[in-house]
Amino acid sequence: MSLRTRILILAYGITIFLVGFLTFWDFYRIGTTVRDLLLKDTTDYVRVESLHIAEYLYQGDYYKIVETLRVNPISEIRDILVVDGSGYIVASKSRGLIFFEKLPEFEDIKLLREIKVEHLSEEDTFKIIQPIFFEEELLGFLIVYLDYSYYQGIVKDKALLSGISALFVIGVIFGVVRYIDRQVSKRLSIAIDMLDKIGKGNFNLPDAPLDGGELAQLYKHIKATADHLKESLISKTFYEEVINSLLEGLVVFDSKGNILEANRSFCRMTNLECKEVVGKNLKEVFPEFFYHVREALKQGRNSQRFTCTRTGAEKHYLLFISKYEDTFIVTLNDVTQMVEYERKLIEMSLTDHLTGLKNRRALEDILSMEMEIARRYNRPLSFALIDVDFFKKINDNYGHDVGDEVLKKLARILKSELRSPDVVGRWGGEEFALIIPETNIEGAKVLCERLRKRVEETTFDKVGKVTVSIGVTQFKKEDTMQSFIKRADDALYEAKERGRNRVEVKL
Ligand code: GH3
Ligand code: MG
Ligand code: MG
Repeated sequence: MSLRTRILILAYGITIFLVGFLTFWDFYRIGTTVRDLLLKDTTDYVRVESLHIAEYLYQGDYYKIVETLRVNPISEIRDILVVDGSGYIVASKSRGLIFFEKLPEFEDIKLLREIKVEHLSEEDTFKIIQPIFFEEELLGFLIVYLDYSYYQGIVKDKALLSGISALFVIGVIFGVVRYIDRQVSKRLSIAIDMLDKIGKGNFNLPDAPLDGGELAQLYKHIKATADHLKESLISKTFYEEVINSLLEGLVVFDSKGNILEANRSFCRMTNLECKEVVGKNLKEVFPEFFYHVREALKQGRNSQRFTCTRTGAEKHYLLFISKYEDTFIVTLNDVTQMVEYERKLIEMSLTDHLTGLKNRRALEDILSMEMEIARRYNRPLSFALIDVDFFKKINDNYGHDVGDEVLKKLARILKSELRSPDVVGRWGGEEFALIIPETNIEGAKVLCERLRKRVEETTFDKVGKVTVSIGVTQFKKEDTMQSFIKRADDALYEAKERGRNRVEVKL
């Protein structure tokens, strides 16, 4: 039931109850008042009249008594009797003189010394008995029968008037209620309809009525609220769109890990629909992510890089944490491509482009590391430099491209001949270097000799036979990288000096 209907029912209900009650009370009041007035007038008349009648009764002048009774001014008196001291009715208004009729109830009234009013029936007649004294001697009684019907008539008239005025009051009140309804309830119900529309997300409200007053203000405020809500909703949708268009994942969660918001990118990273993510706990949606956020927070950091393979492929992520009151806002970047690119760059920076072997930089890093291990654990380590003999001639005779092909083939041969801990790389130009861990100079010399022989036995396209000279040395505790390499270089020089295509050792 609407507010308006309730107000109307309440207003009409109260009106009908009040008017009904007032009318009933009015009937009662009018009836009682008229009756009381009538009784009072009659008893006053009886009191006064009894004085005259006392005198006439004393003188025995019954005619005068009858005359007095007849001309009484109260029309509603049905009958008046005068009874003498022996109980005989001596005069009656209706029947004139009577000398012989004795009043049946005389014995009951004989003792009365004061006026007595008796209600003879519920709504019929009153009997007023007035003792008649003359010079303090009781001469008889004056008995008046008062008819009720007269004042009933008055009550009827008054009731009619009261009813008409009640109807008038009802009419006026109904009019007022209807006016208030039009002014207040009806407008209130419009205001309620407006609020209902807002609640259902419809913000296109009619303009507020222009008349003044609080209700016009209410319309205005509702309209302003609707406009404001509309704007905030538009900006909310706008920002949601912005957040969803981000490539990086964004998730907001409380201190227990319950997800409050998540953008599309984040949901994609979890392999779940957005409606399955929001409201869940981060721990069940993306456990690895949850673990790394927790670790970062424990260590007081606001960023963390981590790798995970939950979707099969290896993925690299970078997360950033910021805190807002009791919530955490974490962005998650998929940096897999960047990491792979980085790896490729590092690999490229350490690889020789032509041969695919490690370049000098990589060789120097590895050599430095191996020297450190050899020094610390007192392990043997050997190093060799390999230089192609008369390479300039190959270039000169067959061209640079053929020279390149020779270098590539040599690289393949060297690589295929080595054990896994051994490292081969291009030292520069047509020189190669070998790092041979866990191997003393004897072992290294055997290896180098095998390599030299392998090259010697190989036939190179267009060029035919190619030979290499190798200088090899073993690491000493006091060596620097420079001194270590220098000894291998000296050994190589020695090999060249002694006719090339040979292995020389220098210790
Ligand atoms: P030897 O070592 O026996 O004394 O004689 P060599 O002719 O090999 O002498 P040297 O070491 O002085 O010459 C090296 C030549 O290698 C010089 C250079 O033109 C050539 N060279 C260096 N790098 C490359 C390369 O990447 N490709 C080609 N085709 N040639 C290169
Ligand atoms: Mg050279
Ligand atoms: Mg050479």
